[in-house]
Amino acid sequence: MIDAGQSRASLIPLTRNHAGFPEGITGPDLLARMRSQAGLFGVELRNGHVDALERRQGDFLARTDQSTIRARTVLLATGVVNRRPPMIDDSTHARAVAAGRLRYCPICDGYEVTDRAVAVLGTGERGCNEALFLRSYTANVTLIAPEAARQLSAQQRALLGEAGVGIAGPCRAIRLDGNEILVDLEAGPRAFDSLYPALGSDARSELAGQVGADLSEEGCLKVDAHQRTSVVGLYAAGDVVLGLDQISHAMGEGGVAATTIRNDLARQTPLLR
Ligand SMILES: Cc1cc2nc3c(=O)[nH]c(=O)nc-3n(C[C@H](O)[C@H](O)[C@H](O)COP(=O)(O)OP(=O)(O)OC[C@H]3O[C@@H](n4cnc5c(N)ncnc54)[C@H](O)[C@@H]3O)c2cc1C
Repeated sequence: MIDAGQSRASLIPLTRNHAGFPEGITGPDLLARMRSQAGLFGVELRNGHVDALERRQGDFLARTDQSTIRARTVLLATGVVNRRPPMIDDSTHARAVAAGRLRYCPICDGYEVTDRAVAVLGTGERGCNEALFLRSYTANVTLIAPEAARQLSAQQRALLGEAGVGIAGPCRAIRLDGNEILVDLEAGPRAFDSLYPALGSDARSELAGQVGADLSEEGCLKVDAHQRTSVVGLYAAGDVVLGLDQISHAMGEGGVAATTIRNDLARQTPLLR
């Protein structure tokens, strides 16, 4: 396993929706436990970044700046990167995520903002849908357009209006102030308990592109029901595959992929059948 150590899970202050941890577990703790479990069973764990993937005589070559690894099959679980609001600096961003003021997964932790003042930063269909989703947890939701709210259609405005979701923007800056996140609007700063950026994400699917695997319009990997990509021997699991971006889902896909890899290899190796 080669890992560049940029897991989205490492940003989770405390997840309460991961089965088996009723008191919750931090993302870094969960990752450390999984690494130690994999190590117990002989998985070689390498820290590093795979810069290039290529096919060579039916195998794959994965290149890092340290070494080149030859493999018969590759499982890509490279995840996605959330698009961050440009109007917040890196250190404030890190502190705000750690404090639960800035949140990226309403499906994971929307219930934690029940009855709180929540802002959604975004516009168009994505912003509208995320604001309406969060409206089922709290009546105090404001959709803030980063630039201006022009990208909302009349129908979206009507839907938001009916749900009692406020619309504001443009947003000039995002600041952290004690237990609140402050959004600087033209009319002045507004304080919220939490802010959800709804700006989308970018799939880390460059390596798949290098070997010609089919990608969706969003840049996610397309797989069959057994996590096989369109390239023989290349499998994918987790956020980099189009679908629900959650740990449980990534793990389920990982389990399906691992079993498929084992069975596909067994077909080529009669003794393993
Ligand atoms: C703030 C936040 C809170 C969240 N809360 C929850 C929650 O409560 N519950 C929940 O279920 N989900 C939550 N999620 C979502 C969850 O983190 C992801 O769904 C999950 O981490 C996806 O796992 P993954 O393995 O697909 O990708 P990741 O965990 O992102 O891991 C991908 C890994 O691949 C590595 N990688 C990528 N490219 C390369 C390369 N070329 N070479 C080497 N390594 C590479 C990266 O460095 C990274 O370590 C949250 C996400 C965020 C951002």
